Amino acid sequence: MGCRGAWKPFLLLVALSILPVGCGGKVRPAASAPSPTFEYSFDGQRALQDIKTQCAFGPRVPGQPGHGQCAKWIQSQLQKTADEVTLQRFEQTLGGKSVNFTNIIAVYGRQTPRSLALCAHWDTRPFADQELDADKAAKPIPGANDGASGVAVLLEMGRLFKQKPPPDGVVMVFFDGEDYGKTSAEMFIGSRYFAKRWKSVLPVKPWRGILLDMVGAADIRIPREAMSDSAAPELLDAIYQRARDANLSHVFPDEAGKPINDDHIPLIEAGIPTVDLISFEYAWWHTLEDTPDKCSASSLKAVGEVVARTVYDSPR
Ligand SMILES: [Zn+2]
Repeated sequence: MGCRGAWKPFLLLVALSILPVGCGGKVRPAASAPSPTFEYSFDGQRALQDIKTQCAFGPRVPGQPGHGQCAKWIQSQLQKTADEVTLQRFEQTLGGKSVNFTNIIAVYGRQTPRSLALCAHWDTRPFADQELDADKAAKPIPGANDGASGVAVLLEMGRLFKQKPPPDGVVMVFFDGEDYGKTSAEMFIGSRYFAKRWKSVLPVKPWRGILLDMVGAADIRIPREAMSDSAAPELLDAIYQRARDANLSHVFPDEAGKPINDDHIPLIEAGIPTVDLISFEYAWWHTLEDTPDKCSASSLKAVGEVVARTVYDSPR
């Protein structure tokens, strides 16, 4: 997750302020059965396993071996469920050196003018800049929550779409280079590239988008991110209604959240109103402790179920 520039002081404060609290809690299970409109079960355990698989590749930092291995693995998973998988490869010169990036794009169902984009970043941060120790801060983060969690939810959702295609079609976009640099100019690289060039990889412009970032921690809490609320309030309304339907309002509190600089901003600027579902209150953000044991199947399932309900029962 990227959160530079004006928001950094606030976000740093949030991260530091919750350090003593820890994240040992579990998301409470839904108190009642899913609504009749939702027929398919999202497998949180399988999504958790997908986080472990990604972390086992090592850092997914452009230029490192785990980056290429993980791209191939994500592609192979998507090829089992999607109608079409495309790699959007590109090169950029950053800090005086050439860096190769890859956005991974998967299409599900017949694309219509109301097709939805579901997005996450799959890269991980090259340095653990929230570590206080300089040696630790120079190392890449494992990125279990910040990176792998959003990918894991989308991959599992693809397995649902294989069972039942989404009514208006979905395009999944896995962004590279979200967490690459130390300044905002060197972050959100994949989403900015995609936002300018979606026509080269998609038949129609997505009507709306949902971005998932840092959705795997054991005690996630996802308020209405402020930029999302400006861009697509009706989509957020629908998502929080689905959360109420699923008795998951403790995960999705319908309340104003702070603005966060993330991959949804380039999409909004490109005319694809996109909401960011993000739980930023994460003690291990940009540290070496962002490991799979901090994540939980119940959190992944909660997010997956709410997004799946939104997709299958799209707002009109
Ligand atoms: Zn990050």
